[in-house]
Amino acid sequence: MSAEEPLVISGHAIVGEELVPVPADIVIKGGTIVAIEDAKNVPARWICPAFFNAHTHLGDTIAMDCAVTGDLTAMVTPPDGLKHRYLKAASYADLVSGMKKSIRFMAARGTAGCADFREGGNDGVSALKRAVAGQQFRPVILGRDGGEAVADGVGISSTRDVPDSGKIAAAMKSAGKLVAIHAGERDNLDVDEALSCDPDLIVHATHASYDQLRQCAERDIPLAICPQSNWIFSVAGSRNHPPVRRMLDLGCRVFLGTDNVMFVQPDMLAAMGFLHTVYHLDPPDILRMAVAGSSLGKDPFFINPRARANFIIVNPRRSNLAFSKDPVATMVKRGYSVCSCKKVFNL
Ligand SMILES: [Zn+2]
Repeated sequence: MSAEEPLVISGHAIVGEELVPVPADIVIKGGTIVAIEDAKNVPARWICPAFFNAHTHLGDTIAMDCAVTGDLTAMVTPPDGLKHRYLKAASYADLVSGMKKSIRFMAARGTAGCADFREGGNDGVSALKRAVAGQQFRPVILGRDGGEAVADGVGISSTRDVPDSGKIAAAMKSAGKLVAIHAGERDNLDVDEALSCDPDLIVHATHASYDQLRQCAERDIPLAICPQSNWIFSVAGSRNHPPVRRMLDLGCRVFLGTDNVMFVQPDMLAAMGFLHTVYHLDPPDILRMAVAGSSLGKDPFFINPRARANFIIVNPRRSNLAFSKDPVATMVKRGYSVCSCKKVFNL
């Protein structure tokens, strides 16, 4: 198709940040949505914005489902947590191959990008760049141990593990790069210091206090929550952690992530289902969390006029989903049962 020739895709489009399904023709030119026109008698298919996984560690694909033998510190805290021992022992080729396969899986499940905490310094960042080459997928790469210099920003493991976090964050800020920090995962004692780094993203906030969350809302610091990971690591045991309802009520921007691939499959459809089952939130709020992290990259994935066209097309007629009365609720609650979707990614 030439850039001049418009492509028209018709169906029930889940449009805008409000995520309201409307029967529409979506007109695309050169990869950009040039018009969303009301239409009648559209085919029974759903056009849903692509997902963005707001927190991954793709590198630890190579340690998938190793036995969980201790607490959070024993498993994933640098420098000697089990995950880091696996990463050190892995060959560069295996590391790249693991990440490549995870990215392929994510894209097939409608995820067009992720914000990845990339361990291993420069080599770690280059391994992810190599893994994603040639794939329809755009990661926001958050390096560490020097890797941040060749990445989109820094991904700081808790400020309690990195004594010069403030200095690193300031250097990133002056270079116009992103600062993301794990904070509040097992208690709220590292959240204030994370906030003092003026971050672009706080990851987890599982135990953040009311005042800390209010600050995130007031300062418009988005939160990437990873509920499945929190439950696996036993840092959450009720719907109060992470306090998602409170985050939303305070007006925080909340993004959804899946965290370590070694323990959680990076599948946004499954992550949305879990969030719905355990936290009892409204489906549009959940779907918004699964898309909104795309604002960390170049173009948000919401379906709007003048946006790049990044969405998936689901055909519900192939299964019992044909009987759905609400495509947004069904995508959130049982999207994990969607076996295949057609991707339109123009990253
Ligand atoms: Zn993490």
